[in-house]
Amino acid sequence: MQLATALGITATLAKWLASQRPTSAAIDITQRCNLKCKHCYWWQQEHPPEMSTQEMIQFMKGLKSQGLRVALLYGGEPTLRLELCRAASNIFDSTLIFTNGLNGFPRLNGAQWLVSLEGPREINDSIRGDGVYDQVVKNILSAPMSPLVHMTICRPNSQREVIEEFVRQMCSLPIKGIGFSFYTPVSSPEDDKLFVPLEERDTIVDFLLALRERYGGRVGFTPAMARQLKSNGKFKEWNHYELCPVSTRVRCFKADGSPKPCTYGEEADCSRCGCAAVVAYRGAFHPLDLETLRVIMGLLIP
Ligand code: SF4
Ligand code: SF4
Repeated sequence: MQLATALGITATLAKWLASQRPTSAAIDITQRCNLKCKHCYWWQQEHPPEMSTQEMIQFMKGLKSQGLRVALLYGGEPTLRLELCRAASNIFDSTLIFTNGLNGFPRLNGAQWLVSLEGPREINDSIRGDGVYDQVVKNILSAPMSPLVHMTICRPNSQREVIEEFVRQMCSLPIKGIGFSFYTPVSSPEDDKLFVPLEERDTIVDFLLALRERYGGRVGFTPAMARQLKSNGKFKEWNHYELCPVSTRVRCFKADGSPKPCTYGEEADCSRCGCAAVVAYRGAFHPLDLETLRVIMGLLIP
Protein backbone atom coordinates (compact mmCIF):
# COMPACT_ATOMS: atom_id res chain seq x y z
CA MET A 1 0.00 0.00 0.00
CA GLN A 2 1.32 3.45 -0.92
CA LEU A 3 2.02 5.95 1.86
CA ALA A 4 -0.60 8.45 0.61
CA THR A 5 -3.23 5.70 0.54
CA ALA A 6 -2.31 4.53 4.03
CA LEU A 7 -2.56 8.10 5.33
CA GLY A 8 -5.92 8.57 3.59
CA ILE A 9 -7.37 5.42 5.12
CA THR A 10 -6.02 6.41 8.53
CA ALA A 11 -7.66 9.84 8.13
CA THR A 12 -10.97 8.16 7.27
CA LEU A 13 -10.82 5.91 10.34
CA ALA A 14 -9.96 8.94 12.51
CA LYS A 15 -12.98 10.80 11.10
CA TRP A 16 -15.21 7.83 11.88
CA LEU A 17 -13.99 7.91 15.46
CA ALA A 18 -13.89 11.66 16.06
CA SER A 19 -16.63 13.30 13.98
CA GLN A 20 -19.99 12.73 12.30
CA ARG A 21 -18.92 14.10 8.91
CA PRO A 22 -19.34 12.18 5.62
CA THR A 23 -16.29 10.15 4.58
CA SER A 24 -17.50 8.04 1.69
CA ALA A 25 -19.22 8.32 -1.67
CA ALA A 26 -21.49 5.56 -2.97
CA ILE A 27 -21.87 6.05 -6.70
CA ASP A 28 -23.97 4.22 -9.29
CA ILE A 29 -21.47 4.53 -12.12
CA THR A 30 -23.79 2.89 -14.61
CA GLN A 31 -27.47 2.15 -14.91
CA ARG A 32 -26.84 -0.87 -17.14
CA CYS A 33 -26.48 -4.48 -16.07
CA ASN A 34 -25.79 -7.76 -17.86
CA LEU A 35 -28.04 -9.71 -15.44
CA LYS A 36 -31.63 -9.48 -14.19
CA CYS A 37 -31.52 -11.07 -10.75
CA LYS A 38 -34.85 -11.94 -9.15
CA HIS A 39 -34.14 -10.17 -5.86
CA CYS A 40 -32.71 -7.01 -7.41
CA TYR A 41 -34.21 -3.62 -6.71
CA TRP A 42 -32.15 -2.02 -9.48
CA TRP A 43 -33.96 -3.08 -12.63
CA GLN A 44 -37.34 -2.44 -10.98
CA GLN A 45 -36.56 1.27 -10.56
CA GLU A 46 -36.39 4.23 -12.96
CA HIS A 47 -32.88 5.61 -13.55
CA PRO A 48 -31.60 8.86 -15.05
CA PRO A 49 -29.16 8.93 -17.98
CA GLU A 50 -25.49 8.28 -17.13
CA MET A 51 -22.83 10.96 -17.07
CA SER A 52 -20.18 10.63 -19.75
CA THR A 53 -16.79 9.19 -18.75
CA GLN A 54 -15.17 12.63 -18.49
CA GLU A 55 -18.11 14.10 -16.59
CA MET A 56 -18.04 11.22 -14.10
CA ILE A 57 -14.27 11.50 -13.60
CA GLN A 58 -14.59 15.23 -12.86
CA PHE A 59 -17.49 14.47 -10.54
CA MET A 60 -15.44 11.89 -8.61
CA LYS A 61 -12.49 14.28 -8.32
CA GLY A 62 -14.87 16.88 -6.91
CA LEU A 63 -16.12 14.45 -4.28
CA LYS A 64 -12.56 13.60 -3.25
CA SER A 65 -11.72 17.29 -2.91
CA GLN A 66 -14.70 17.62 -0.54
CA GLY A 67 -13.09 15.06 1.79
CA LEU A 68 -14.80 11.88 0.60
CA ARG A 69 -11.80 9.56 0.55
CA VAL A 70 -13.55 6.19 0.19
CA ALA A 71 -15.65 5.21 -2.84
CA LEU A 72 -18.20 2.44 -3.13
CA LEU A 73 -19.02 1.77 -6.78
CA TYR A 74 -22.34 0.25 -7.69
CA GLY A 75 -24.52 -0.12 -10.75
CA GLY A 76 -26.05 -1.77 -12.56
CA GLU A 77 -22.82 -3.60 -13.24
CA PRO A 78 -19.70 -1.42 -12.72
CA THR A 79 -17.43 -3.51 -14.99
CA LEU A 80 -19.53 -2.31 -17.93
CA ARG A 81 -17.66 0.98 -17.33
CA LEU A 82 -14.25 -0.43 -16.45
CA GLU A 83 -12.54 2.84 -17.34
CA LEU A 84 -14.47 4.46 -14.45
CA CYS A 85 -13.48 1.66 -12.07
CA ARG A 86 -9.84 2.38 -12.98
CA ALA A 87 -10.31 6.13 -12.62
CA ALA A 88 -11.96 5.79 -9.19
CA SER A 89 -9.20 3.50 -7.96
CA ASN A 90 -6.69 6.25 -8.81
CA ILE A 91 -8.76 9.13 -7.38
CA PHE A 92 -9.90 7.75 -4.02
CA ASP A 93 -7.76 6.35 -1.19
CA SER A 94 -9.88 3.22 -1.14
CA THR A 95 -12.41 1.92 -3.66
CA LEU A 96 -14.75 -1.01 -3.15
CA ILE A 97 -16.48 -2.21 -6.32
CA PHE A 98 -19.64 -4.32 -6.16
CA THR A 99 -19.80 -6.63 -9.18
CA ASN A 100 -21.68 -9.67 -10.39
CA GLY A 101 -18.32 -11.19 -11.40
CA LEU A 102 -19.28 -12.14 -14.96
CA ASN A 103 -16.58 -9.92 -16.49
CA GLY A 104 -13.82 -11.10 -14.14
CA PHE A 105 -11.67 -9.17 -11.68
CA PRO A 106 -9.02 -7.09 -13.46
CA ARG A 107 -6.14 -5.83 -11.35
CA LEU A 108 -6.74 -2.26 -10.14
CA ASN A 109 -4.61 0.02 -7.96
CA GLY A 110 -6.15 0.62 -4.55
CA ALA A 111 -9.44 -1.07 -5.36
CA GLN A 112 -11.13 -4.18 -4.03
CA TRP A 113 -13.66 -6.31 -5.92
CA LEU A 114 -16.69 -7.56 -4.03
CA VAL A 115 -18.61 -10.19 -5.99
CA SER A 116 -22.20 -11.15 -5.28
CA LEU A 117 -23.32 -14.77 -5.33
CA GLU A 118 -26.43 -16.13 -3.65
CA GLY A 119 -25.53 -19.69 -2.75
CA PRO A 120 -24.37 -22.94 -4.36
CA ARG A 121 -24.87 -23.36 -8.13
CA GLU A 122 -28.53 -24.40 -8.20
CA ILE A 123 -29.76 -21.74 -5.77
CA ASN A 124 -27.52 -19.02 -7.16
CA ASP A 125 -28.54 -19.65 -10.74
CA SER A 126 -32.24 -19.78 -9.84
CA ILE A 127 -31.80 -16.18 -8.61
CA ARG A 128 -29.05 -14.80 -10.88
CA GLY A 129 -29.51 -16.84 -14.05
CA ASP A 130 -28.30 -20.09 -15.63
CA GLY A 131 -24.53 -20.54 -15.87
CA VAL A 132 -23.68 -17.57 -13.65
CA TYR A 133 -22.23 -19.59 -10.75
CA ASP A 134 -19.82 -21.59 -12.93
CA GLN A 135 -18.66 -18.51 -14.83
CA VAL A 136 -18.02 -16.54 -11.64
CA VAL A 137 -16.12 -19.44 -10.02
CA LYS A 138 -14.02 -19.73 -13.18
CA ASN A 139 -13.28 -16.00 -12.98
CA ILE A 140 -12.38 -16.23 -9.28
CA LEU A 141 -9.92 -19.05 -10.04
CA SER A 142 -8.14 -16.93 -12.65
CA ALA A 143 -8.39 -13.58 -10.82
CA PRO A 144 -5.14 -11.60 -10.38
CA MET A 145 -6.63 -10.20 -7.13
CA SER A 146 -8.67 -12.39 -4.78
CA PRO A 147 -12.16 -10.86 -4.51
CA LEU A 148 -14.42 -10.64 -1.50
CA VAL A 149 -17.68 -12.56 -1.86
CA HIS A 150 -21.05 -11.24 -0.73
CA MET A 151 -24.27 -13.19 -0.22
CA THR A 152 -27.66 -11.53 0.26
CA ILE A 153 -29.68 -13.84 2.47
CA CYS A 154 -33.31 -13.94 1.36
CA ARG A 155 -36.06 -16.52 1.71
CA PRO A 156 -34.96 -18.73 -1.21
CA ASN A 157 -31.40 -19.15 0.14
CA SER A 158 -31.93 -18.82 3.89
CA GLN A 159 -31.81 -22.54 4.84
CA ARG A 160 -28.83 -23.43 7.05
CA GLU A 161 -27.63 -26.25 4.82
CA VAL A 162 -27.64 -23.90 1.80
CA ILE A 163 -25.66 -21.20 3.60
CA GLU A 164 -23.14 -23.66 5.03
CA GLU A 165 -22.60 -25.46 1.72
CA PHE A 166 -22.02 -22.09 0.06
CA VAL A 167 -19.51 -21.01 2.73
CA ARG A 168 -17.74 -24.37 2.41
CA GLN A 169 -17.51 -24.00 -1.37
CA MET A 170 -16.30 -20.40 -1.24
CA CYS A 171 -13.69 -21.16 1.43
CA SER A 172 -12.17 -23.74 -0.94
CA LEU A 173 -11.58 -20.96 -3.50
CA PRO A 174 -8.93 -18.21 -3.53
CA ILE A 175 -11.23 -15.55 -2.06
CA LYS A 176 -10.27 -12.91 0.47
CA GLY A 177 -13.38 -13.34 2.58
CA ILE A 178 -17.14 -13.73 2.55
CA GLY A 179 -19.78 -11.39 3.95
CA PHE A 180 -23.56 -11.40 4.32
CA SER A 181 -26.41 -8.95 4.00
CA PHE A 182 -30.06 -9.73 4.57
CA TYR A 183 -32.60 -8.71 1.96
CA THR A 184 -33.93 -5.19 2.62
CA PRO A 185 -37.50 -4.54 1.39
CA VAL A 186 -37.72 -1.80 -1.26
CA SER A 187 -41.51 -1.54 -1.79
CA SER A 188 -41.31 -4.24 -4.44
CA PRO A 189 -44.10 -6.77 -5.12
CA GLU A 190 -41.38 -9.41 -4.45
CA ASP A 191 -40.63 -8.17 -0.90
CA ASP A 192 -42.83 -10.71 0.86
CA LYS A 193 -41.28 -13.60 -1.08
CA LEU A 194 -37.75 -12.42 -0.29
CA PHE A 195 -37.65 -10.78 3.13
CA VAL A 196 -36.60 -13.03 6.02
CA PRO A 197 -38.70 -12.09 9.10
CA LEU A 198 -36.64 -10.57 11.91
CA GLU A 199 -37.21 -13.37 14.43
CA GLU A 200 -36.04 -15.93 11.85
CA ARG A 201 -33.13 -13.66 10.95
CA ASP A 202 -32.02 -13.72 14.60
CA THR A 203 -31.47 -17.47 14.43
CA ILE A 204 -29.58 -17.23 11.12
CA VAL A 205 -27.35 -14.58 12.66
CA ASP A 206 -26.35 -17.07 15.37
CA PHE A 207 -25.71 -19.65 12.68
CA LEU A 208 -23.38 -17.26 10.82
CA LEU A 209 -21.33 -16.90 14.01
CA ALA A 210 -21.12 -20.69 14.24
CA LEU A 211 -19.86 -20.76 10.63
CA ARG A 212 -17.10 -18.29 11.52
CA GLU A 213 -16.04 -20.66 14.31
CA ARG A 214 -16.10 -23.60 11.89
CA TYR A 215 -14.55 -22.06 8.75
CA GLY A 216 -12.36 -19.33 10.21
CA GLY A 217 -11.78 -15.60 9.91
CA ARG A 218 -12.57 -15.37 6.19
CA VAL A 219 -16.22 -15.59 7.27
CA GLY A 220 -16.57 -11.84 7.84
CA PHE A 221 -19.25 -11.85 10.49
CA THR A 222 -18.39 -11.10 14.12
CA PRO A 223 -20.29 -11.17 17.41
CA ALA A 224 -20.34 -7.34 17.39
CA MET A 225 -21.96 -7.40 13.92
CA ALA A 226 -24.47 -9.99 15.13
CA ARG A 227 -25.52 -7.66 17.96
CA GLN A 228 -26.28 -4.92 15.41
CA LEU A 229 -28.72 -7.19 13.57
CA LYS A 230 -30.44 -8.92 16.48
CA SER A 231 -33.99 -7.67 17.03
CA ASN A 232 -33.36 -7.74 20.80
CA GLY A 233 -29.85 -6.27 20.36
CA LYS A 234 -28.80 -2.95 18.84
CA PHE A 235 -30.95 -3.08 15.69
CA LYS A 236 -33.39 -0.46 16.99
CA GLU A 237 -30.49 1.96 17.58
CA TRP A 238 -30.00 2.43 13.80
CA ASN A 239 -32.99 1.15 11.81
CA HIS A 240 -34.41 4.64 11.07
CA TYR A 241 -32.97 6.84 8.37
CA GLU A 242 -31.88 9.61 10.76
CA LEU A 243 -30.09 7.09 12.98
CA CYS A 244 -28.45 5.04 10.21
CA PRO A 245 -24.80 5.96 9.58
CA VAL A 246 -25.57 6.17 5.84
CA SER A 247 -27.45 9.42 6.53
CA THR A 248 -24.33 11.03 8.04
CA ARG A 249 -21.29 9.13 6.74
CA VAL A 250 -22.08 8.23 3.15
CA ARG A 251 -23.22 10.45 0.29
CA CYS A 252 -25.05 8.38 -2.32
CA PHE A 253 -25.38 9.36 -5.96
CA LYS A 254 -27.19 8.19 -9.06
CA ALA A 255 -25.42 7.78 -12.39
CA ASP A 256 -26.24 11.39 -13.37
CA GLY A 257 -24.68 12.73 -10.15
CA SER A 258 -27.98 13.53 -8.44
CA PRO A 259 -28.18 12.52 -4.76
CA LYS A 260 -30.22 9.66 -3.36
CA PRO A 261 -30.82 8.81 0.29
CA CYS A 262 -29.36 5.30 0.31
CA THR A 263 -27.69 2.86 -2.07
CA TYR A 264 -30.89 0.79 -1.91
CA GLY A 265 -32.84 3.76 -3.33
CA GLU A 266 -35.69 5.98 -2.17
CA GLU A 267 -38.07 3.17 -1.23
CA ALA A 268 -35.82 1.15 1.08
CA ASP A 269 -37.45 0.12 4.35
CA CYS A 270 -34.99 1.17 7.06
CA SER A 271 -37.05 -0.54 9.76
CA ARG A 272 -36.22 -3.93 8.16
CA CYS A 273 -32.73 -3.16 6.81
CA GLY A 274 -30.12 -5.90 6.50
CA CYS A 275 -27.21 -3.94 5.04
CA ALA A 276 -23.83 -5.58 5.74
CA ALA A 277 -21.91 -2.31 5.41
CA VAL A 278 -23.94 -0.61 8.15
CA VAL A 279 -23.67 -3.67 10.35
CA ALA A 280 -19.87 -3.80 9.90
CA TYR A 281 -19.43 -0.07 10.51
CA ARG A 282 -21.67 -0.06 13.60
CA GLY A 283 -20.11 -3.30 14.83
CA ALA A 284 -16.61 -1.82 14.58
CA PHE A 285 -17.33 1.54 16.22
CA HIS A 286 -20.42 1.23 18.49
CA PRO A 287 -18.53 0.45 20.68
CA LEU A 288 -15.01 0.03 19.30
CA ASP A 289 -14.44 -3.63 18.46
CA LEU A 290 -11.06 -4.66 17.10
CA GLU A 291 -12.27 -7.94 15.60
CA THR A 292 -14.82 -6.09 13.45
CA LEU A 293 -12.34 -3.30 12.70
CA ARG A 294 -10.19 -5.99 11.03
CA VAL A 295 -13.20 -6.87 8.83
CA ILE A 296 -13.50 -3.19 7.86
CA MET A 297 -9.79 -2.96 7.10
CA GLY A 298 -10.16 -5.98 4.82
CA LEU A 299 -12.79 -3.99 2.89
CA LEU A 300 -10.74 -0.80 2.72
CA ILE A 301 -7.33 -2.27 1.92
CA PRO A 302 -7.02 -4.43 -1.24
S1 SF4 B 1 -26.09 -8.10 -11.05
FE1 SF4 B 1 -26.61 -6.66 -9.41
S2 SF4 B 1 -27.54 -4.87 -10.43
FE2 SF4 B 1 -27.49 -6.57 -11.93
S3 SF4 B 1 -29.53 -7.48 -11.76
FE3 SF4 B 1 -28.15 -8.64 -10.40
S4 SF4 B 1 -28.32 -7.67 -8.34
FE4 SF4 B 1 -29.19 -6.26 -9.92
S1 SF4 C 1 -32.09 1.17 4.06
FE1 SF4 C 1 -30.59 0.54 5.58
S2 SF4 C 1 -28.64 1.33 4.84
FE2 SF4 C 1 -30.27 2.45 3.76
S3 SF4 C 1 -30.57 4.30 4.98
FE3 SF4 C 1 -32.08 2.77 5.65
S4 SF4 C 1 -31.13 1.76 7.42
FE4 SF4 C 1 -29.52 2.84 6.28
